[in-house]
Amino acid sequence: MDVKVRSGDTLWYYSNLFNVPLDLIIDSNPQADPSSLQIGQTIRIPGYETSQYRIQSGDTFWKIASERRISLDAIALLNPSVNPRMLQIGQVLFLPVQVTYRVVDGNRPYDFNVLTTDLNELYELYPFVRRETIGSSVMGKDLVELQIGRGPKVVHWNGSFHANEWITTAVIMQFLNDYLLALTNKETIRGLEIAPFYNEVTLSIVPMVDPDGVDLVLNGPPEGEFGELALTINDGNTDFSGWKANIRGVDLNNQYPAKWEVDAARKPTSPAPRDFPGYQPLTEPETVAMAELAGARNFEKMLAFHTQGEVIYWGYEGLEPPRSMTIVNEFERVSGYKPIRYVDSFSGYKDWFIQDFRQPGFTVELGLGVNPLPLEQFDEIYQETIGIFLASLYM
Ligand SMILES: [Zn+2]
Repeated sequence: MDVKVRSGDTLWYYSNLFNVPLDLIIDSNPQADPSSLQIGQTIRIPGYETSQYRIQSGDTFWKIASERRISLDAIALLNPSVNPRMLQIGQVLFLPVQVTYRVVDGNRPYDFNVLTTDLNELYELYPFVRRETIGSSVMGKDLVELQIGRGPKVVHWNGSFHANEWITTAVIMQFLNDYLLALTNKETIRGLEIAPFYNEVTLSIVPMVDPDGVDLVLNGPPEGEFGELALTINDGNTDFSGWKANIRGVDLNNQYPAKWEVDAARKPTSPAPRDFPGYQPLTEPETVAMAELAGARNFEKMLAFHTQGEVIYWGYEGLEPPRSMTIVNEFERVSGYKPIRYVDSFSGYKDWFIQDFRQPGFTVELGLGVNPLPLEQFDEIYQETIGIFLASLYM
């Protein structure tokens, strides 16, 4: 929601008027100097939208405000040209509406288009969310990173490293929406105050690492050369439900230089629906973007969300720091998921992250069953994951 600054208005005043944390208003208006607002300047109020109301007989600003539990001055602010002493029946007023509902519904086939639409709605409602394009997929789709908060502790989550595990993107996006609602409306999640995280944590999220692959699994092969290539790799089969790789048949979570040669020696040697690690490490734009992001951001911890197994992989060659065990034990406590320290598999993002940065890195395997997990499991998986999301912030 936008408001126009009047003489004497301050961001602090808006924070009180709408009961929205001041930090969120400041960060939603990076172009504004909080110490010298200009009269007539547009200021964005996060977590609000406007509705239109038609004046009826007997209405006054006071009556309208008290019926909706909003302040008189909020109505005046949104309707600067309306004289409250001369209301006309049928006249239209703009009223502030605090957004208390999700715009993201994760419980649906969550492809790149749905992601893009949901992101645009979230940016509109929560302008303090920062977005960066960290690269492009093979087919040119934006690889998007979101950042929320201004804390020194940078916590990173990513989803859909594997195409047919796209439900991870849906889970992350729905929680992001709940997190933004809790920040703006000063609410708790599972009894935990969310507001303090804004200044303690910078949350970095890449919701969909493999958008081309996700779209292939959900929508079938695209027109043109990449669709034909994928069909060839899939032996002409139009069912792509077993596809984990990117659009040209490279498994993005087998692309990292952490004993890559060991894995490559026992994996497919040419493009495949899954497990082909590439002809060399880091040949794909998606894997390069994620490697560069880790190099740029100084993640305090990293969680890569996959499906399935209800387990959490947390070690790599003994290079993981001691606190990784403390953290994964907390993840287990809040989710019931079982920690697994070592596994005979290398060259994943988590492996490389631990090896190169010596910070806690986790591969979290959501849900149980055969990928792609059916949406009937969405709500259950979502509930299991909430505790892990929260623990990654406070641990
Ligand atoms: Zn996976």
